[in-house]
Amino acid sequence: MNTYIEKVLKEIKTKNKQEPEYIQAVDEVFSSIEPNIIAHPDYEKVALLERLAEPERLVIFRVPYVNDEGKTIVHRGFRVQFSSLIGPYKGGLRFHPDVNQSIIKFLGFEQIFKNALTGLPIGGGKGGSDFNPKDKSNAEIMRFCQSFMTELQRHISKDIDVPAGDIGVGEREIGYLFGQYKRIKNIYEGGVITGKGLSYGGSLVRKEATGYGLIYFMREMLKNAGGITFNGKTVTISGSGNVAIYACEKALEYGAKVVAMSDSDGCIYDKNGIDLNLIKEIKEQKRERISTYLNSHPDAQYLKKESNDSPIWSIKTDIALPCATQNELTLNSARELVSNGLLALGEGANMPCTKEATEYLLANNILLAPAKAANAGGVAVSAIEMSQNSMRYYFDFEVVDKKLNEIMINIFLQCKKATEKYNLGTNYVSGANIAAFEKLADAMISQGIV
Ligand code: NDP
Repeated sequence: MNTYIEKVLKEIKTKNKQEPEYIQAVDEVFSSIEPNIIAHPDYEKVALLERLAEPERLVIFRVPYVNDEGKTIVHRGFRVQFSSLIGPYKGGLRFHPDVNQSIIKFLGFEQIFKNALTGLPIGGGKGGSDFNPKDKSNAEIMRFCQSFMTELQRHISKDIDVPAGDIGVGEREIGYLFGQYKRIKNIYEGGVITGKGLSYGGSLVRKEATGYGLIYFMREMLKNAGGITFNGKTVTISGSGNVAIYACEKALEYGAKVVAMSDSDGCIYDKNGIDLNLIKEIKEQKRERISTYLNSHPDAQYLKKESNDSPIWSIKTDIALPCATQNELTLNSARELVSNGLLALGEGANMPCTKEATEYLLANNILLAPAKAANAGGVAVSAIEMSQNSMRYYFDFEVVDKKLNEIMINIFLQCKKATEKYNLGTNYVSGANIAAFEKLADAMISQGIV
């Protein structure tokens, strides 16, 4: 490995010992941009890698709220404002008990690259809390969101930092967060948060954007690999949240047969093809566990999750779409997928494959659509939501969907161009990292030492 990259990675590992996910994310990017670093020995003098990996700012704050029993509970809130090189900090909020500094920093770091690939003027940020919205009442969630925003509002605005949703933060939570921001600031500032409801400034297609965008990217990648299409292919999708549901919807529209979906407790396998309307009812309306699918489809199977290796990856499939969470697909699972004849894998979730799983999939010539590129559709439509808010205007569904499609095609072409430039075959993981890095490095050099 190039000595400058090696030195910086060593320093980052020493300085951030307690942050394995953050180290994993930086390691993956820096290990794949070697050709750029070799071509630019000047980067070391201006500490370009060190500056890229160090967040501009990280805010950690107390989030107290009163639960339905009248007891005060205290959670920890985070917002990392990672990079404003190419626009206001932009990235979602995650409410999940696993949230910690390492997870927020890894997500914030990846967001910089993803946002650069969209071609839109957005920097990178991320935030969240170790609050678990599952099993909480609506009133508890509202009080928590209000408390979270009471602190966050000091740090954000439509031109500074624009949060959105992520795991555990959907349209309901965005509404409560936005309402509190408006109340404190006494201003209707639509562009301060994205993923809003359609009745008060949200964009059509935002809900569908990440899932649809993933399938648009995959469509291009498959087409480029000899005219392969989704039609007739078997697909398995982990998760059953926002990204998973709309990836499923578009894959079905393209003629695929989706046979399995999951949540954190286990997965359902329906060899007749998943009943997506039922999944939407269970997950979007009733907020129940996916196992209740069997009440309506007793022929389907429920496979409980017993270890780190999710049972969904033992199901034979042509295309796997991990759309749940980081490191959900291990080396064991990758081996199983490959031995069952996997053709392609698309990362809907952020960093869903462990480092070893990614290396194994690439070594076995699996077509791998990396998260930074393949799941950028959500943030792209968020940026389009910000534009509509600034214009005080709404675009039709078809207009936004067409724009999303064009953005995803363009992201694929950027990845492909980078793989061709550096003879990387179909390694789009490196292609995405290199394409985004080139843009960021250029912006950093242009803006001087900041
Ligand atoms: P949701 O909260 O809507 O859904 C998350 C899904 O993943 C649920 O089915 C959940 O199951 C499952 N899940 C969460 N944590 C775990 C875990 N530790 N193990 C197994 N399953 C888990 O989130 P999204 O769909 O919005 O996000 C999913 C992924 O996509 C995340 O990695 C997110 O960062 C990424 N992403 C999301 C974007 C968006 O626009 N929403 C944009 C780009 C990336 P359960 O209900 O049991 O917890």
